[in-house]
Amino acid sequence: KTRREKTVETPYEVSSSSRPESEWCENIDYFMKKRLSVWCPVPGALWKSGKIQLISGEEASIKLSDGTVIEASTEELLPANPYSFEDIHDLMRLSYLNEPSVLHNLECRFCHDMVYSKAGPLLIAINPFKDVHLYGDEVITAYRQKLTNEPHVYATADNAYNQMMRDGENQSIIISGESGAGKTEAARLAVEYLVALCDDCSGLKEKILKASHILEAFGNAKTSINDNSSRFGRFTEILFSTKGKLRGAKIQTYLPEKMRVVKRAKGERSYHIFYQLCAGAPLSLKDRLNLKMANQYQYLNQSECLEIRSVDDASKFHMLMEAMDIVQISKEDQGHIFDLLAAVLWLGNISFNEVDTESCIEVALDEALAAAARMIGCSTQELISVLSSPKDGTSEKLTLQEAISIRDGLARSIYASLFDWLLELINKSLEVDKQETGRSISILDICGFESFQKNSFEQLCINYGSERLQQHFARHLLTIEQEAYDMDGLDWIKVDYEDNHECLNLFERKSLGLFSLLDEESYLPAATDSTFLNKLKQHLIGNPCFKEDRNGFFKIRHFTGEVLYDSSGFLDKNRDTLHANFSQLLSSSCLLSRFAPSVLNQSQVPTSFASELQAPDSQKQLVGSKYKDQLFNLMQQLEHTKPHFILCIRPNSEQLPSIYRKELVLQQLRYSGVLEIVAIARVSYPTQMAHEEFARRYVSLLLEKNVPQDPLDISVAVLRHCNVLPEMYQVGYKKLYMRAGLIDMLEAMKKLVP
Ligand code: ADP
Ligand code: MG
Repeated sequence: KTRREKTVETPYEVSSSSRPESEWCENIDYFMKKRLSVWCPVPGALWKSGKIQLISGEEASIKLSDGTVIEASTEELLPANPYSFEDIHDLMRLSYLNEPSVLHNLECRFCHDMVYSKAGPLLIAINPFKDVHLYGDEVITAYRQKLTNEPHVYATADNAYNQMMRDGENQSIIISGESGAGKTEAARLAVEYLVALCDDCSGLKEKILKASHILEAFGNAKTSINDNSSRFGRFTEILFSTKGKLRGAKIQTYLPEKMRVVKRAKGERSYHIFYQLCAGAPLSLKDRLNLKMANQYQYLNQSECLEIRSVDDASKFHMLMEAMDIVQISKEDQGHIFDLLAAVLWLGNISFNEVDTESCIEVALDEALAAAARMIGCSTQELISVLSSPKDGTSEKLTLQEAISIRDGLARSIYASLFDWLLELINKSLEVDKQETGRSISILDICGFESFQKNSFEQLCINYGSERLQQHFARHLLTIEQEAYDMDGLDWIKVDYEDNHECLNLFERKSLGLFSLLDEESYLPAATDSTFLNKLKQHLIGNPCFKEDRNGFFKIRHFTGEVLYDSSGFLDKNRDTLHANFSQLLSSSCLLSRFAPSVLNQSQVPTSFASELQAPDSQKQLVGSKYKDQLFNLMQQLEHTKPHFILCIRPNSEQLPSIYRKELVLQQLRYSGVLEIVAIARVSYPTQMAHEEFARRYVSLLLEKNVPQDPLDISVAVLRHCNVLPEMYQVGYKKLYMRAGLIDMLEAMKKLVP
């Protein structure tokens, strides 16, 4: 039987009343007569609402609510929603879906501290930058008991948990948004809710929450746009048993920003932990580490920012120590962690003297050198030898710049390995017996899109990550749904949107993609940042997402807008090789060799890139392409889960409460395709079920004796028997497509059947 035959019998088509804006054009006179509000474009203010006074031809005069009258072309006017439609919690329910209406609705909610709204399947979270009293145990209970249906991260998490239990399928909560939009906060709330769902046995719940706290101390820093910016991506899997009991957690991290430890823009800080340690270490620890105030360390004082407004680093340090105890990091390991942090700080204070006119340099024999060596666990002589031996074992003397770069490289590597090791300790502590798990909900929070005045390799990687995530987001919210409807023969009005495959292509193409060009150049010993840039220009200039710029710079058109990148330092950051002598130093330091096998492995790569070229099998993977591969794996992992999306929005750039900048919000809504998502959701069928499955589940609702044989016939009979309105569903070749709410209704009816 084909679907066509069925259509003749019952009207399965969607009623056109769900698309009112199509009738708007004919209705403009009606709006004037009934004195209904319209949106009128106003220079400098996007849109304002007003009433049409007069229409003559293509021109209309509009009286705005502040009394001024302006002229506008009728084509530019958009219908406003009636007053009673302000504050609706799902944009899907706006009678008129257009940009000013969406912006206005979100603003009304934001002003009343309702920072969450739905856009069909998507949760929109606008960062309030203040305490909005929407969190905590009582609110969690309210969502668990379904006492409220206001959108919330808790509701999204609850939904994920229920679907996991109902369908036996692993779930994911994917959080996107610019830097500072509130992603990490949303991720924290989701985890908080999920662990609260379960009885806390063996303190696991507390451990999971504190683990996140520890990672933030070591992986977050103040940037120019976010006082607590995560400088690493995070994928947290919360593990449950098949019965839904909390069993443990596993955290993966992505691309921690190493460079920040030694260098960053003015007004930004290094990782929180350094300032916390300096401010809060108890006396005995201070003594042992020979610890000074933060302003006496070159790695900390160079960016002229030591404190964060209304943050007390000392008390944060005490909280961190508590968290480490709760996560059961042994006192001995804690001691090692602090040693290494001090080692990094002291390394930064090591200075070099220029000995003679040939600019031969010598490590200064001072407190810094002695303290750094002691903390690393090597002799000062060993440290001197590493810091003053030329690269590649040649006999050339080091320049001052080279010596500093070796010193900084060592500090960065120590910190990066410390971070990895800490993660390992945390994961061990959260580890569970694999047999006891079976289900999971993963929460993804990767660094959000960034565009600073100066953008470098780090931003390039972060923004590439955003592109990847955006593709996943758009595919699930915009494409897959539509493709499925097409394939299953549904009546369907296609919604178009601009996808970002061209930009992804620019990065990922196997030959002549940005990452492959970067790798090629990085393996050439003689290559420099400028030969790299020339290569880009030569090969990428045809791609519409790539643009040349002034000397040393290039531009990429991301889905969020254009970003200017400074190519200097790209090759070194991508290579990220350790100095050959490090391996020797590291193996002689019992501390480092114990905790940092990854450093040792890294340092085993040949120091000369030429030799790597000769031995392609043992090629060390470079930073950019490694990140690309990690993201691919991540996306693959995500493909095996049912996704739930949260879009975080930054309402202003000053991190201030109660300020809602329309232009900024609109820009973020636009590039995430929020209006398109709503448009699709309005005519979509969130619940889809194969006819066999539907028939199996609901055949019991047919109380008659002569039940049809064919699953499709059973489905149709059930729907008719239950008097389901035709606009609530469509029948496809393979599946039944249902509007929101229908399945809940059927489930409720099933419970009534004896
Ligand atoms: P992102 O991870 O997207 O860069 P964060 O989650 O770090 O952004 O949020 C930046 C800052 O915004 C936080 O440090 C906090 O001050 C504030 N913030 C974010 N979400 C909320 C919220 N739900 N309520 C109150 N303040 C928030
Ligand atoms: Mg973050």
